[in-house]
Amino acid sequence: MLKVESVTKYYGEHLAVDNLSFEVNDGEIFGLLGINGAGKTTTFRMIIGLLDKTSGTITLDGKKIDYSETDKIGFLTEERSLLTKLTVKEQVIYYGILKGMKEKDILEKLDKLLERFKIIEYKERKIKELSKGNQQKIQFITAIINDPKLLILDEPFSGLDPINVSLFVDVMKEMKEKGSSIIFSSHRMEHVEQFCEKLVVLVKGKSVLSGKIKDIKKAYRKKNIHIIGDVDINKLSKIKGVVEVINNEDEIIVKIESDEYVNEVFKLIAKCENILKFSVEEPTLNEIFINKVGETYEG
Ligand code: ATP
Repeated sequence: MLKVESVTKYYGEHLAVDNLSFEVNDGEIFGLLGINGAGKTTTFRMIIGLLDKTSGTITLDGKKIDYSETDKIGFLTEERSLLTKLTVKEQVIYYGILKGMKEKDILEKLDKLLERFKIIEYKERKIKELSKGNQQKIQFITAIINDPKLLILDEPFSGLDPINVSLFVDVMKEMKEKGSSIIFSSHRMEHVEQFCEKLVVLVKGKSVLSGKIKDIKKAYRKKNIHIIGDVDINKLSKIKGVVEVINNEDEIIVKIESDEYVNEVFKLIAKCENILKFSVEEPTLNEIFINKVGETYEG
């Protein structure tokens, strides 16, 4: 388990991370969210010991993370950190050996991963000849070549198309099933909703929303009702507990104060014609964020 306790980081006078605490259990995928400059990279760098904390503690399975732990950690950096003159094979062997692996095991694993990521034909090619997306795949492969117990991914999906995002996510889910702790950063809420169970949202280095996504959504009592049919929008807006009615081309979205008002809306809909849909849905994380922080999240 990774435990981050009351961690603070100042760059000179500038407070980049402010008393941050969270835990990532074995077999858990954890999202660290925040717009540019929120403190995500600083947090990761402190976890792997590339940067000193100003205060606080960080432990992996109860032990401080130092050089002896690095074999258990995989790290994908935000900026490209590949040696572009090397071939894919040379690069991965280099990283694998740094992680204490034998060359034979590295090559076996590399072939499997290159097949999995559909880039086996690039094995002997120089990194600089690869497209950005394929370089990102190689960076991901180097981060997971040693089956790390703790996998840290700084913006792993940036620049990837949706097919490749789901390829990365599938591999992350498999590693989670095998017991790895995975922590990744993103500035896109929808990435997180799809596959991770816990998150922290940072604003100027401070956690503004944290915990299990399920619990965050449960605690946030506002709901959205999606309706398709002939409904009098005016009457809908006047129902007690209705905060907003959005009349989209394909459906009407009714935002209500809490689920206790569903019935009132339903009573009106029951009297309407041609109702094709009536469903009560939880708000998106982005909506919760906007409501809590009072500003748009998408960075
Ligand atoms: P991004 O999504 O843009 O990568 P981030 O969430 O990773 O952003 P950080 O890179 O951790 O954010 O930066 C957090 C804050 O600390 C920012 O205000 C940044 O300007 C500042 N900062 C980062 N590195 C340094 C440094 N070496 N010296 C001084 N300030 C820094």
